[in-house]
Amino acid sequence: MATILDGKAHADRMLETVRLGVEARKAQGLRAPGLAVVLVGDDPASQVYVRNKSAACARVGITSLEHRLSLDTPQANLDGLIDRLNADPDIDGILVQLPLPQGLDAKRALHRISPAKDVDGFHPMNQGLLLEGLPGLRPCTPSACMSLLAHHGVALKGLRAVVLGRSEIVGKPMALMLLEQHATVTIAHSRTRDLPAVCREADLLVAAVGRPGLVEGSWIKPGAVVVDVGINRVEDPGLAARIFACEPKKLETFQSKGAALCGDVRFGEALQVASAVTPVPGGVGPLTIAGLLANTLQAANG
Ligand code: NDP
Repeated sequence: MATILDGKAHADRMLETVRLGVEARKAQGLRAPGLAVVLVGDDPASQVYVRNKSAACARVGITSLEHRLSLDTPQANLDGLIDRLNADPDIDGILVQLPLPQGLDAKRALHRISPAKDVDGFHPMNQGLLLEGLPGLRPCTPSACMSLLAHHGVALKGLRAVVLGRSEIVGKPMALMLLEQHATVTIAHSRTRDLPAVCREADLLVAAVGRPGLVEGSWIKPGAVVVDVGINRVEDPGLAARIFACEPKKLETFQSKGAALCGDVRFGEALQVASAVTPVPGGVGPLTIAGLLANTLQAANG
């Protein structure tokens, strides 16, 4: 039976480190780090994420300021707000909550954020620094996954890693961070031939795809470490029956609620093959916010 890599517990450790860093700033007479969160429109999931981020900021002593813009905000107004936040000396980090409503250009907004305040690590300057292996603000989800792996003593040097997914926010930066730690990295995606065979070669499998239960137990090399980044809501009873076949309790919850969250990996099957696996929820999700706050402290400290 695999070890469950508890993301919540590791997020708590990361947040405590941030809290101590904020205290240390205050002890030197410096102000608390300031994070500006920009939310455009009324997407319910985004509202939950923003609320969770504000609560986490309060817990570690970071000042968070929410800027809510209406659904029909023109791009020029969003640009103007970002410019004002870039110039605000009390703001160290700027986060534009994605997805933006239709009609707004997310890349343009993200590229407008000053690289020094880009706590999501999505600006091309920060992505370029990562590519060169230089210090900068790095994307929160993959950095927090690296922190989790380090905490659990996963030796990356020479290890065969497969990253499923090639997005700019998870897959590509995750692959670069693993490469930096001397893993031998394969990036797989929707056009990869014989995905199960590619996955089976992985000593470390990172799934960041957004497809519920795509990775079956038979795709996992016995003894592999599995990091499941995906967060998916399943509502289809047939799919739920397949994905949760090895998790009777989860299936019961699904049946009573009519929906359930799951990752890209079939957790119950992975538990029987892998040496360690992150759950969903309670795995990578909580780590991402902790990574964001670590970046905000880093940005404040310059
Ligand atoms: P994207 O949609 O940007 O990228 C998904 C990637 O998966 C793409 O590279 C795509 O390939 C690949 N892909 C899609 N379908 C398949 C398939 N059937 N087989 C193989 N590869 C496939 O997603 P993100 O990277 O933004 O997010 C991925 C998942 O992680 C989502 O579930 C998201 O909710 C979750 N997430 C979780 C976070 C957390 O805090 N835990 C933070 C960020 C994301 P191609 O490029 O060829 O289209």
